[in-house]
Amino acid sequence: MVVKNFNFAWIIQMKKTMQTIDNFTFKDKKALIRVDFNVPLDSNNQITDTNRIDATIPTITKILNDGGAVILMSHLGRPKGGPEEKYSLRHVIPYLSQKLNRPVKFADDCIGKSATDLSASLKPGEVLLLENLRFYKEEEKGDREFARKLSLLGDMYVNDAFGTAHRAHASTAIIAEFFPKTKMFGYVMANEIINIDKCLKDGKHPITAILGGAKVSTKIEIINHLMDKVDNLIIGGGMMFTFIKAQGGEIGASMVEDDYIEMAKSIMERAKAKGVNLYLPPDAVLADAFSNDANKKTSSAFEIQVPWMGLDIGPSACAKFDHVIEQSGTILWNGPMGVFEMNNYEAGTKFIALALARVTEKGTFTLVGGGDSVAAINKYGLADKVSYVSTGGGAMLEYIEGKELPGIKAITG
Ligand code: AMP
Repeated sequence: MVVKNFNFAWIIQMKKTMQTIDNFTFKDKKALIRVDFNVPLDSNNQITDTNRIDATIPTITKILNDGGAVILMSHLGRPKGGPEEKYSLRHVIPYLSQKLNRPVKFADDCIGKSATDLSASLKPGEVLLLENLRFYKEEEKGDREFARKLSLLGDMYVNDAFGTAHRAHASTAIIAEFFPKTKMFGYVMANEIINIDKCLKDGKHPITAILGGAKVSTKIEIINHLMDKVDNLIIGGGMMFTFIKAQGGEIGASMVEDDYIEMAKSIMERAKAKGVNLYLPPDAVLADAFSNDANKKTSSAFEIQVPWMGLDIGPSACAKFDHVIEQSGTILWNGPMGVFEMNNYEAGTKFIALALARVTEKGTFTLVGGGDSVAAINKYGLADKVSYVSTGGGAMLEYIEGKELPGIKAITG
């Protein structure tokens, strides 16, 4: 992926301190790679979104080009602790094979004789895919013996599954102890870490976080952590109404978490004490029901009467936020500004996506992360117009919260 507006000296420095596949050569080695092939499948077991597989191709290719062999392990879906046909990784073979332009061998059990025999006979340039790790409940339990059995399959361990880096599972963390000198990050992991760090630890000021989505409760930790990092905090989405109510505004039938009013007040006080500018939308798009067909009007976000509810930020909010975006050196965006899944309430989210694309062009570093903002940036076809789109989901959110992720610590620790 092309990362725009990056300080490349900084990348080089990060890569020096980080153990990645670029620090190793794989000639005649077997690399055991934890990938995230947890892709959505339709009822005919066809992949409906190949992004996660596509993302790992550069890592696999680098190792194969070095003259190494590759053993891929992943989970798929949520099996109940035993084999289930619909969760078999066999379904990804045709696509993977086409992307890598070579056959992909398959072990129908991720540990045991078939996996050991296939891995032992693997030659340089060959690829072996293991069956779903979560067919064993030991995987999610982080079982050491299960991790040891997996470790027997390769000479080197590569973690390239950022999506599961926040889990201390056997294949994502525990296994690393069996490769004390030959454990490393693949490109997906390294890029995620470098880009999020770049944003929060080395971002050009002013740094702005734009937070939206449904609930304050799920974003509290992030807000608390960001408060020490950012200059501006923009709040939109359903969670803005908890803040507006905390300021004494009338929010009508809008989404609110009354249990978090006091928390919202203390966040606003902390922001003030720290000199962080906290921006709330002055106006909102209101509907008289939670439906795309409801009656609609734009009004102050602070004077909403039942049955009206705010389902998007309004045009004045867009203009106000745009001004902040325009002045920023670094921007992190997590969570839509409104119910963007419904066309009548997508304008605010679309406006932010376009504004980010515009300032990226002018040199601002823009990072978009978290499930729904990624869906939004994709909906408007702007994913390649921002600096970086994090696909990490829960792992990215925990990383932004300042937590130490087991999958990262296992390599760096
Ligand atoms: P989250 O997963 O917390 O980021 O929330 C994303 C969801 O928040 C999306 O499905 C949006 O439809 C929803 N959302 C955004 N703004 C609002 C709003 N004003 N009222 C209700 N839901 C909203």
